[in-house]
Amino acid sequence: MNEAIRLINKLNTDRSLTQDEYAKLIELRSPESTSYITEKAVAARKSVYGNKVFIRGLIEISNICKNDCYYCGIRKSNKNCDRYRLTADEIIECCIEGYSLGFRTFVLQGGEDSHFSDDILCDIIRRIKLNCHGCAVTLSLGERNEESYRNLFEAGADRYLLRHETATESHYQKLHPDSMSFKKRFECLETLKKIGYQVGCGFMVGSPFQTVYDIARDLKFIEEFSPDMCGIGPFIPHKDTDFKDYPSGSAELTCYLLSIIRLIKPNILLPATTALGTVNSDGRENGILSGANVIMPNLSPKSVRKKYMLYDNKLSDGDESAQNLENLKNKMQKIGYEIVTDRGDISK
Ligand code: SAM
Repeated sequence: MNEAIRLINKLNTDRSLTQDEYAKLIELRSPESTSYITEKAVAARKSVYGNKVFIRGLIEISNICKNDCYYCGIRKSNKNCDRYRLTADEIIECCIEGYSLGFRTFVLQGGEDSHFSDDILCDIIRRIKLNCHGCAVTLSLGERNEESYRNLFEAGADRYLLRHETATESHYQKLHPDSMSFKKRFECLETLKKIGYQVGCGFMVGSPFQTVYDIARDLKFIEEFSPDMCGIGPFIPHKDTDFKDYPSGSAELTCYLLSIIRLIKPNILLPATTALGTVNSDGRENGILSGANVIMPNLSPKSVRKKYMLYDNKLSDGDESAQNLENLKNKMQKIGYEIVTDRGDISK
């Protein structure tokens, strides 16, 4: 039997491969292995979630960041970035609008902006919960200390997304300045899990200096950490960063990895990301058809959407916009999927 097919069958039975086997599975990617793993991933996802696709309203609360990640358009040293910060009232208004559109999860994402103290965030979380009955709140606000994560959880936050970015320390150091610590990133993930959040990790596909072995290590980490959510999307260069001349990551490889991750953990919440939709006009649909089951339309105020430019040409209107949900619903229906009004928690 073809080696890639053997590895896919093994992964589908054991939900586990060795790191070398993950690397081999990536290296042996072919039209045949892709269509085989896609079929298995779709079956695994369907057995848990049927044809449901969960939506999250993404609110980009601030592009002010104290960090200087080399790949990111809102890094602190980008002097061309037009900075903004939403007020608590603006954030609540976005949620109320989203609730009326059918969203039952709101993701508050932003740079590491010290304005957002625990008190301010706890107040925002409580107000969202009060105004949007039965909704879930996901935070994606980077690294904070244990006490802070605990305060936010006690105020009602349900989930936390913190991409690990890469599970290889030497690679992490090539993507981040010395002020950022690989060890701390992983400690944060462990802390979030211990507190009781539904936790998401993830990484960019095709980030500068990434090797097949780095991706294999990411997959092994995902298998062992067993996150509730996993955000992966292609790296896309931003013109005002050191990585401006590096090529974008591959949409096809991203979809293949979505299928692998679905087979590692059939009940994982797996978004077809904005970055995937940005590198390929069919990216979102292809992500869903590869095993993803979450889409995160943009619910930020229209006036700031173009300012949260993590990478060049980042989509924020058209199907990406929460206000165009009907279009997205039609597109999903055409490929056999249904967007549902639901918190979309992980199925245990
Ligand atoms: N500050 C928070 C954090 O660090 O987790 C959340 C915001 S951060 C901008 C969200 C994610 O955007 C990062 O985890 C990174 O993977 C992704 N990102 C940043 N720059 C990118 C780029 N050039 N291409 C693709 N994804 C990028």
